[in-house]
Parts: sequence; structure tokens; C-alpha cells
Amino acid sequence: MNTQKSKELFQEAQKYLVGGVNSPVRAFKAVEADPIFIKKGKGCRIWDVDDNEYIDYVLSWGPLILGHAHDQVINAIKQISNYGTSFGAPTELEVEMAKAVIDAVKSVEMVRFVNSGTEATMSAIRLARGYTKRKKIIKFDGCYHGHGDSLLVSAGSGVATLGIPGTPGIPEELASLTIVLPYNNIEAVEEAFEKYGDDIACVIIEPVAGNMGVVAPSKEYHQKLREITRKYGALLIFDEVMTGFRLSYGGAQELYDIDPDLTTFGKVIGGGLPVGAYGGKREIMEYVAPVGPVYQAGTLSGNPLAMTAGLTQLQLLKQLNPYQELDEKGRFLEEGFKKISQETGVPVAVNRVGSMITVFFTDKEVVDFTTAKTSDSKKFAKFFRCMLEKGVYLPASQFEAFFLSTAHSQRDLEDTLNKAYECFKQLS
Ligand code: PMP
Repeated sequence: MNTQKSKELFQEAQKYLVGGVNSPVRAFKAVEADPIFIKKGKGCRIWDVDDNEYIDYVLSWGPLILGHAHDQVINAIKQISNYGTSFGAPTELEVEMAKAVIDAVKSVEMVRFVNSGTEATMSAIRLARGYTKRKKIIKFDGCYHGHGDSLLVSAGSGVATLGIPGTPGIPEELASLTIVLPYNNIEAVEEAFEKYGDDIACVIIEPVAGNMGVVAPSKEYHQKLREITRKYGALLIFDEVMTGFRLSYGGAQELYDIDPDLTTFGKVIGGGLPVGAYGGKREIMEYVAPVGPVYQAGTLSGNPLAMTAGLTQLQLLKQLNPYQELDEKGRFLEEGFKKISQETGVPVAVNRVGSMITVFFTDKEVVDFTTAKTSDSKKFAKFFRCMLEKGVYLPASQFEAFFLSTAHSQRDLEDTLNKAYECFKQLS
């Protein structure tokens, strides 16, 4: 495969952009490869600047659940842009979009739109602290909630990928207010609340973790979290930036039948444009300015282009209800990878919930970040490079999820598994 233009662009990019990229994992450092520069996408495919074609399992890290450049989403953006790009004033679209989110997600009674998942979680944490008048928060080891200071402690995703140890730039005083506990371990949560219960503002969790690779919790785990947080008057925040509108139209909370106090969104909600949101119980949301005292604002928040892309994608999802289809596609890949592992003797743990899937190169069961880290990242990197070479674009890290879209056909999945078989054989 000729990737000359990508190589040249990367050389050039590194002169002007830190690491040649605008988000660390894109640099392909952990997989010891040069990044591919993308020119265009359509459906489940992307093309790079050298005109190589790939089946894409990154989908811009999750947003493009209907695939790249979906005709209806693109047309809607084109049309609305004729009216202007931003006003910094209320628009009808924001009302429509808010109604769509509230209609979809049971626990959400009011919503505020922002521009990214990071902003959504940062704002939700501020709101939880303001509402409860408490300082400490609980997050889980290996969960990533964006790069807000309070949340960038023992985070997954790129932080885990690059093995960045501490949290340089984040004052110890602030980091010490974040209690980090192992995922899927309810005793640890009980102990923390026994010790610090009166000072814990909230528990924030990826209801299905995707940023240490995919790790699923049990329904009982979420129920217990809900009970404990209620008992101590702390808020339960479901960070559904990745899972929202992906695992079901009502998000992971619908799947697990849990009623969190606040929920954060990003990715799918924006249809590929920069949108985040946080929402929840009216009583809590009314603590946000201008109704309440907790300040949060945004010049481009509720931007008409972004609202249009998001709303169009949500309307299509509601209409198509593709979640069973996505789950079946996910199952096909999961079973395929397990079979390939057996046939080639390369041990892997395949974790999946719906259309999120991770192949961990370990012989251990992966239930938390500690077990996720038993994976052989070098082996993953080899697998990644082999797949890339064969035209399959995977997330460039062991600690990320592969995402599926409605645009991946049965043939694409079979093609992917055939290539994976070849790559596993090279590893065995
Ligand atoms: N929360 C979760 C669960 C995420 O997966 C991410 C991004 N991967 C974020 C928050 C941050 O979102 P963004 O990158 O849009 O700031």
C-alpha cells in the first residue's frame, strides 16, 4: 500500500501542529505507525490522500452511527447553512433538538447543549458540585470523561494509550478531590461512601465503558450505584457521550433500566458536528444559569449547523430503529473474532455491547482497567498495522472500542473477518 502523501503530510504537520495532530491518539504513536491522512468518507468507507480505501471502524470515534456523509444529514447541513452559520441567539432548532433528546431519554427533563463531550462532563460535574454543595467526586479507573481537570485522573482512552502517568498541569489540590475506584467493584464504592459520604457530590460513570476498551457492567452494579448515591445524597451521572443513542435510542440507561440524575452526551447526538449536551432532572438543571447560580455558557453552543446535523441523525435513528440490526452485526463480529482466535491459537478476550466491541490480546477475562492492561499492546499494534495494510481502519489503541454503523454490510464484516484471520495467523 502506497501512503507517500500521508507520510509527507505528517512530516509537514509536525512542524506546525503538536505531534502533527489535534488529538493525541490520531498520531498512531501507540501502534508505532504513521497516521493516515483522510480525504473523504462515504458509508462505512474512508479514503486517504493517496486514494487507498478502508473499511472504517472508528467512525470519527463513534458519532457516525449511520456511516460517513449520510445523504440526509449532508443535505440538511447544506440547506441550513444558506441561512447563516451562527447567531449567538436562540433558534427554533435548539427547541426541536431539546425535545428530541428529552423524548428519547427517560431521565432527562431539561437539557443544555454545549460543543463537545468534554464540555458536557465538565459542566455536569460543576453542576453536581454546585447543587450538592460538596467537593469530592468519584470516577472509575480507566473511564475517560474528556479532559476536564477534575476528570483527567486515572483516565482511559488516549491517556491510557500513551501511558501518561500523572496529571501534569492539574493542581494536586484539585486532583485530590477526585476519588478513583476500580470499575465493576461495588464494595469499593460502599467503602468510599462510608468514609467520605457527606462530601461526595457525584459518581460519574461510563455506563458501558468504552475508553479502557469495552467493559460491561452488570445490571446489579448499576442498581447498587443508584441505591448508594441516593442513600448519601450524591448525584449519579451517566456519561453517555459514547453510549447515548448508540446502544439504544434511550442510551445505556434504557438498556439497564437505570434512572441517573444527570446524563452527558456527545458523539452521536451531533451527527458528526461538534455537539455535546448535559441534561437531567428539572430541579437539578434549574441550578444552571440563567435560572440558577451555576455558570456555564458558550459562544457557539446550539449552533444551527450542529443542531441540524444532530437532529437529522436522531430523527433517522428514531425512524429506522437500527439497534437490533447493529447488535446482530456486533454479534457476528464478536463470534467471528472468537472463532479466529481458536483457529489460530492467539488468545483474545472479545468484549462487546451492541455496536461497541474490543478485541483484547489477553487470555484473561477483562472486567476492569487492571485486567484490560494485561493485554499485549505490542500484539495489538501488530494486528492494527496488518489490518491497516489490508484496508481495515481500526482504532489505533488497545484501549478503545471498534464502532459499527448501519452502513457496514454483511459483506464488509465478512471481508473484515477474513483479513483478521490472515493477521492473526501472522501473530501466532
Ligand atoms: N466521555 C466519554 C465517555 C467519551 O468517550 C469521550 C470521548 N471519547 C468524552 C467524554 C469526551 O468527549 P469529547 O472528545 O467530545 O470532548
